Parts: sequence; structure tokens; C-alpha cells
Amino acid sequence: VADFDVVIIGAGPAGIATAIKCCDAGLSVLIVESQAFPRHRPGESFHPGVEPLFHCLGVLNEINNLKPIRYSGYWVSRGGVREHVFFGSDNSGHWKGFQIWRADLDKILLDRATRAGCDVWQPCRANRPMVKDGRVVGVATENGHATSPFLIDASGGCHWLARHLDLQISHASPRLTAAYGYASSLIQKGEMLDPILNLDNGMWRWEARIDENTIHWCELSPARLNCKDSFLNRYPARRVDTTWRSVDASAGAGYFIVGDAAALMDPASSHGVLRALMSGIMVGHLVTSIFHGRSSEYSALFAYRHWLTAWFNADSAALLRIYTDRGLDLAMVDI
Ligand SMILES: Cc1cc2nc3c(=O)[nH]c(=O)nc-3n(C[C@H](O)[C@H](O)[C@H](O)COP(=O)(O)OP(=O)(O)OC[C@H]3O[C@@H](n4cnc5c(N)ncnc54)[C@H](O)[C@@H]3O)c2cc1C
Repeated sequence: VADFDVVIIGAGPAGIATAIKCCDAGLSVLIVESQAFPRHRPGESFHPGVEPLFHCLGVLNEINNLKPIRYSGYWVSRGGVREHVFFGSDNSGHWKGFQIWRADLDKILLDRATRAGCDVWQPCRANRPMVKDGRVVGVATENGHATSPFLIDASGGCHWLARHLDLQISHASPRLTAAYGYASSLIQKGEMLDPILNLDNGMWRWEARIDENTIHWCELSPARLNCKDSFLNRYPARRVDTTWRSVDASAGAGYFIVGDAAALMDPASSHGVLRALMSGIMVGHLVTSIFHGRSSEYSALFAYRHWLTAWFNADSAALLRIYTDRGLDLAMVDI
């Protein structure tokens, strides 16, 4: 049995952000990741709010070295009419989002965690949490057991820990499915690089250029897949359950849940990676506070649950307003 201060399930942005903050504070950390990297994951348009988080995690220079497409807003198109929506601005100019392949982002983050001293078991599947006297005390994996005072579930939308502990998952929308895919498309001279949100027939469809050869498309889809693109699809289109949902007990005795594993909304919220990084940084901070005696476990668990629920509720209300204002009908996409 290997023993650590913190064990994290999943090497997406949420898990790695937790790992970096804990390692930088001197804790011993293990990440258990079932897939070998590079591995594909959707979600390449990042809200400008990730920029200070990249800085906080010490990866902003490496991200900028990728020379990602930066965009100050996006186009909203309805009935053939286009309007540009800016994210916002301050004295230094317009705030800008990032277009980055997730495999590139996740590799930069994982390399940073490894440099900070994090142990990584990969590829290695976490089979089940170990529970003693009502407290999570570790994890049983394909490679053996790892114990720790805190287990962090960053496994994404499969809600690994919630399923094993039978935690309540509350839904805040009807059942929703997003379809997504990629298309080869050479950059055209004079092409506008800002993504486009198409709103027609009560549905939305997002198209964003990731690099000079590739466009990502994603749409809130009814039961059928809309693949009649004029593009040549690079990967087969896929469908994912993006029902808005959150785990009621996102922290408890011996565990915290971060990122999509804790709370998830459909991609129109554009906050998935932002929320993953923020929740990971927050939990890294709280776990460190407990270890260094600055906070009791009880108050850290309470603070996290309250913070995450308030954010999820505010995001759900804001997204519902956007749907209503833009004439989109959530009930129409209930499948
Ligand atoms: C179609 C689509 C488009 C999206 N577009 C955007 C976008 O443009 N912008 C944006 O910000 N967000 C977007 N999102 C959301 C974004 O992808 C997620 O919010 C983000 O990936 C969450 O990060 P995470 O670290 O919580 O989980 P993930 O990135 O899902 O990482 C979880 C990790 O856990 C691992 N894992 C799972 N189970 C186990 C196990 N048992 N043992 C070990 N490892 C395990 C997985 O292999 C994975 O690597 C999109 C989502 C979808 C579905």
C-alpha cells in the first residue's frame, strides 16, 4: 500500500490544478489517470477568465508559447444576421479567450504537476474508494492500493465517487445531449477567427477554429445527430450527456469532488474548464489549509460545498436567462 497526503482520481484540468496547488505547498500527491496521454477530450474554447488561473498555476508562458488563437468575443448569428458580442474590457484592452487543443493543455498541466513533485499512476484505473468508519481513506486501483487523508474525485462527468458512495446528483435541466465533431478547414485569407454561435430553430450550434487546419463544432442536439456538414469530419461525431447537474455532497469525510465530477453544465455555459481549474485551485487551497492547521476539516468542507453550490446555482440561472433571451427552448431539446 502506497501512502500519500492527497490522492487524486483523474488528470483533467480539475485534478491537475488541485495537484499543483497541493504539491507547491509541500504535500505528497498521487494522481491516478486511467488513460495514457495524449488523449482526446472536447472543450477547446476557453473563457478569458482562465488567463489569471493559468498564471496562478505557473503555465501561462507555456500556453502562450503554443501561439493559440485569441479572440475578444464571438459572433451570434440568427436568420442570416450576425452580431458581435465582446467578453468585456479594461484599461489594458479587450479580454481575450483562448483556442487550444485539450491534449496540449492537459499535457502542459500534467508536466507542471510532475515537475512540482507529483507522482502519477498512468494508465491506471481507480476501481473503488476505500472507506473505513464512514470516512474515505484511499483508493483501490489496477496497480494496487493508495491511502491518504484526502481523496479528490476529478474523474469528470462519469461522477466516479458519487456513484460508488451513492451520493445524490441533482438535475437542474431537462435531459440534454450535445453532439460534437471536428472538420478539416484551411484558414481563409481575411477569415474572422472569432467563434460563431448559430441560433436557429430553437437550437444552438457553436463553431470555433482551433488551429489553421481545424474547426470544432458542437451543438445542443435533439435525438438525431446533425452530421450534414459541408466539412470533412476528422473524427466521427459523438454525443455526450450534458444535462445540468451537481453532486449535493461535493465534499465529505475524507473527500472533495472537483470539476465536472462535482458540477456540470452544457457547453453553452463556456465555463467548463474555468470551473474545473477554479474548483481544483480552491480545493488545493482548502486541503493545504487543513494540513497546515489554518482551518478545521469541518469548516473547509462546509466552505467548499457552499461555494460550489452558490456558483452552480448562479451559473444555471445565468444560462437559463441566456436561453430565454435568445429564444432557445430547453423543453424542445428534452429527449
Ligand atoms: C462537447 C463538449 C464541448 C465542450 N466545450 C467546452 C469549451 O469549449 N470550453 C470549456 O471550457 N469547456 C467545454 N466543455 C466542458 C469541458 O470539457 C469540461 O468541463 C472539462 O473537461 C472538465 O474537466 P475535468 O478535469 O473536471 O474532467 P475531465 O477533463 O473529463 O477529466 C477527467 C479525467 O478523469 C479520468 N478518469 C475518469 N474515471 C477514472 C477512473 N476510474 N480512474 C482513473 N481516471 C479516471 C479521465 O480519463 C479523464 O482524464 C465541453 C464539453 C463537451 C462535452
